[in-house]
Amino acid sequence: MIRVAVVGAKGRMGSSVVQAVNGADDMTLSHTIDHGQDPAQINAGNTDIAVEFTVPAATLGNVLTLVGQGVDVVVGTTGWNEDKLEQVRQALAKAPRKGQAVCVAPNFAISAVLADYFAAQAARYFESVEVVEMHHPDKVDAPSGTAIHTAQAIAAARREAGLGPVPDGTLTDGGSRGQVIDGVHVHAVRLRGLNAHEEILLGNAGEQLVIRADSFDRSSFMQGVLLAVRKVVSGGYPGLSVGLDTFLDL
Ligand code: NAP
Repeated sequence: MIRVAVVGAKGRMGSSVVQAVNGADDMTLSHTIDHGQDPAQINAGNTDIAVEFTVPAATLGNVLTLVGQGVDVVVGTTGWNEDKLEQVRQALAKAPRKGQAVCVAPNFAISAVLADYFAAQAARYFESVEVVEMHHPDKVDAPSGTAIHTAQAIAAARREAGLGPVPDGTLTDGGSRGQVIDGVHVHAVRLRGLNAHEEILLGNAGEQLVIRADSFDRSSFMQGVLLAVRKVVSGGYPGLSVGLDTFLDL
């Protein structure tokens, strides 16, 4: 049995992870920690791996504590940048246990990660591409981090294929063509009733390919979280991994 601790266990994501772990035949819940509780209660003696879904201000501190305790970590909290990731790499280099691992994944929805990957594969074959992301109206950022990542992956694929700018005869100035990220137009829709959805529209003369990922509720993330837990504790991914795609054998 994999002994799993959940940090941020009372939160929306954390409580879903607690349920998912309780429902998994190969896992047992070792600890739940939330705001005000010391993550150092979690250690290699009582836990194999911790899943961390808290807040951007707390996540780095929690991960560094857990690494110091000899525990592997799967992290879903947002707000990571290269500087913070480097601090985790350095902590892992001095970790108490050999082969210790941390995975930071900005999106655990397998459909979204695959849409990103398929879009980057397809990008080189199409003259035009636009990204439309659609979310519930309580989301604070726009466009979504996932859509920005999709646009960057598409742009890299277009550059590698030697494609020029996407055709666009728009003459008016203003925001109606979305945010341009690395030359790719990204549009953000906010609508009550939606959860998290993304469409990548690819066009050539006379044809269109649409790649679409829909995440209807938080359960969409749990398969990815459990996959990351199993992969990380397997010992096959020592050090820091970023992104669920690491484990999808793409
Ligand atoms: P949430 O409902 O606000 O839950 C966060 C929980 O963490 C709360 O219970 C909070 O307690 C607790 N917390 C705050 N500081 C803590 C600390 N220092 N130590 C332990 N627990 C602490 O938020 P959520 O919707 O679950 O989202 C959590 C994070 O996951 C966000 O960054 C979100 O963007 C991200 N997310 C990622 C994915 C993905 O696929 N990677 C998917 C969805 C969401 P209090 O409320 O008492 O402060």
